[in-house]
Amino acid sequence: MKSVSRIRLFRLTVERHLFKQIVLLENDMETKRLVEKDAKLNRNDLIVITGAGGFIAGNLVKYFTEKGFTRIRAVDKKPLYEWYLRTPGVESLCLDVSEEAHCRRVCEGAVEVYNLAADMGGMGFIERFRVACLRSILINTHMVETAYRAGARRYFFSSSACAYNTLLQQDPNVRALKESDAYPAMAERGYGWEKLVSEMFCQEYWFERGLKTAMARFHNVYGPHGTWDGGREKAPAALCRKVIEAIHTGKSDITLWGDGHQTRSFMYINDCVKGIDLIMHADALIATPINLGSSELVSINDLLSKVEKIAGVKLTRHYDLNAPRGVAGRNSDNTFIKKMLKWEPNTSLDKGLAATYKWINIQYEARQQGKRVVE
Ligand code: NAD
Repeated sequence: MKSVSRIRLFRLTVERHLFKQIVLLENDMETKRLVEKDAKLNRNDLIVITGAGGFIAGNLVKYFTEKGFTRIRAVDKKPLYEWYLRTPGVESLCLDVSEEAHCRRVCEGAVEVYNLAADMGGMGFIERFRVACLRSILINTHMVETAYRAGARRYFFSSSACAYNTLLQQDPNVRALKESDAYPAMAERGYGWEKLVSEMFCQEYWFERGLKTAMARFHNVYGPHGTWDGGREKAPAALCRKVIEAIHTGKSDITLWGDGHQTRSFMYINDCVKGIDLIMHADALIATPINLGSSELVSINDLLSKVEKIAGVKLTRHYDLNAPRGVAGRNSDNTFIKKMLKWEPNTSLDKGLAATYKWINIQYEARQQGKRVVE
């Protein structure tokens, strides 16, 4: 008995020590290395963006092109015809960046690398396909190493609010999550743990090797040019599509996943790409994970009411309590981002949803007419 409790005590001491180390690491980040000023990014410096056939990275390519950058390399494993957005004048490569050899080709000559490639989707996807989510660790592991070897100046990693401790998210009236809430760690199984470990990779590439890394923990992003059907879509797109479907098919019912009381915040895509740019270029945020999300908390019931108002309908609600629903509540505490960037995502949900609904409606109608659309 005595030896068992001694082992337990030993384990506890080790765990406490490890936790202290992590907290120290988190607090000590900015003092560990001197940040050398780098030259301003030139318009013809090569920017690499992975996951560019997908929602956020596709919009990021467009954002940098509109800002006047002339050399952008967009990369995705999907064939080109499946990309949501293709920006003219951009070098587009179809390569799987979970393979190191491909990453070498992708990072060749890069000045800045934005890694947004990941196997991901809404709750339905990440709860069901944890192995696929975990395997995204290969992407960041190879991308950060090859970016470093290629001499890239800065490296961005798209993390997620799913990296936060799930025990803090068990109530719909949730306290907004601040950056330190990721530790002690109890991330979302699969997807969240992959993000947390990848963040640590990025931090260590700065501490040990001097690669300037940036990490943003995105909170639900929505907007035009994203997944809206097929199982990977998130709540705003799914609800817009369901309402549009109901209108087109003359149905008066809608089924929601869970009891509708789950709460979330949703960030409009334009805020997301602007935030990525600001975070990537803030020296004070090197190797420091930061929330990038809206702090406008709504329940899924409220979200549906907003979509109904835009569409001008009222549907009878049914609740599928067996469907994946994720944590009970999640919101972004924006104290840190406001302090560091004097900015936070600020597009209202009403405005962003109206634009999203309009875009999905156009896609839906095009599909009805037999036209090819990307879902
Ligand atoms: P998305 O699924 O629309 O885009 C991801 C893209 O990555 C896809 O086009 C996919 O084909 C590509 N990809 C996957 N594996 C690849 C590989 N091995 N090689 C090359 N390409 C690969 O997702 P998104 O919403 O645009 O998300 C972008 C990033 O932001 C992801 O890292 C995601 O985890 C993160 N994120 C998104 C949200 C959100 O609400 N959308 C929230 C938190 C974090």
